[in-house]
Amino acid sequence: SYFDRIESEDEKIQSYITVCREEALKQAEEADQKVKCKDIKGKLLGVPIAVKDNICTDGIRTTCASKMLEDFVPPYDAAVVEKLKEEGAVIIGKLNMDEFAMGSSTENSAYKITKNPFDIERVPGGSSGGSAAAVAACLAPAALGSDTGGSIRQPSSFCGVVGLKPTYGLVSRYGLIAFASSLDQIGPITRNVDDAAFLLSIIEGYDERDNTSAEIERKDYFKTINDGVKGMKIAVPKQFFEEGLDVEVKEKVLSTIDMLKELGAEVETISMEVAEEGLSAYYIISSAEASSNLARFDGIRYGYRTKNYEDVYDIMANSRSESFGDEVKRRIMIGTYCLSAGYYDAYYKKAMKLKKKIKSEFKKVFEKYDIIIGPVSPVLPFKIGEKKQNPVEMYLADIYTVNVNLAGIPAISVPCGMSSDELPIGMQIMADDFCEEKIFRAAKAVE
Ligand code: GLN
Repeated sequence: SYFDRIESEDEKIQSYITVCREEALKQAEEADQKVKCKDIKGKLLGVPIAVKDNICTDGIRTTCASKMLEDFVPPYDAAVVEKLKEEGAVIIGKLNMDEFAMGSSTENSAYKITKNPFDIERVPGGSSGGSAAAVAACLAPAALGSDTGGSIRQPSSFCGVVGLKPTYGLVSRYGLIAFASSLDQIGPITRNVDDAAFLLSIIEGYDERDNTSAEIERKDYFKTINDGVKGMKIAVPKQFFEEGLDVEVKEKVLSTIDMLKELGAEVETISMEVAEEGLSAYYIISSAEASSNLARFDGIRYGYRTKNYEDVYDIMANSRSESFGDEVKRRIMIGTYCLSAGYYDAYYKKAMKLKKKIKSEFKKVFEKYDIIIGPVSPVLPFKIGEKKQNPVEMYLADIYTVNVNLAGIPAISVPCGMSSDELPIGMQIMADDFCEEKIFRAAKAVE
């Protein structure tokens, strides 16, 4: 039934890059067999799941929405895909995104522009825009996205679905095509908070193939998910509600916070300096790491190769020039510049210092409070094309999400209302490292 729906509806939404009907039916049959023989546990037996196209799938094309990887068929599954399959889930397709996850609108895809299901003239957010739009339009019951600076939370907010960026290290990055390795995390995008908690409990866990994977004891998120917010200590940073925030977003987030107060939460307004500094640090660190991570795409080992060359230098330069989009080139140039001799101390080193400061500022807040609440995006879903020509304006809209990645902490986007134009508004709930259970508990009270 999902394939039928994709066939009839996705022409409008454009959320999938690849739909894999045959492979999916084969996977489903295999899962049936394995469950019969008790080889697999089957907690997701037969559940169709769609995956962002930067997460490797064995035998299924994985493009990163780039021309560079147009024909790339990975010979292995990412750790998260292995885990889904172990539970009998069926991968039904690969979802559109900004090229190499760089962007906030999914307009940077080399293949298509995904539309926001609430208003198809507007963007679904990004970079996991395909994932959020597919879940919102019921083209998949749940999806995986990746979040380096907001790419799960912001599109979830724009599309009225739930999206969680887990603590750095909780979910294995093995098989995730890297953008900025020290910030990237895979997480669930779902229709409700229970599904997000359930999906996280399947994909999380230590993996020796990811050397930043954390070895921690597993938690049962469902033990406390329905406990409500009574007695929870909530911090609301005043800097998250200042200039630049859309009035309707502000009003909805603040009225939801009032509701939590009525439900028994202890809410206090606090001061956090991090917001704006974080944005600068984020764009330096993420671009620096991207410039290094994307060096592997050289036209020689795999990926796109130019037809236009005389020597090996031409192969590298022309393959990259012809197949990377403008935004990817921009990030590679920013990153290379920041890392170059003479500028390293002025940019990269300074940004790394800020990252540390941000982490300790969050730590300090979490000594006193269970969670921090704020908006996800300062703006409502914008019109397609509206910000495309102004990259800095697009970067500025990441102001509330990037700090979370720099600190490594978990955060969710949960719907908290609609604008007067019937556009979804999301609220962000953050917690200390590995305290996802607090996030789910509070998010469930908002839902
Ligand atoms: N919008 C941010 C960027 O363009 C975040 C991207 C992401 O989280 N992958 O870098």
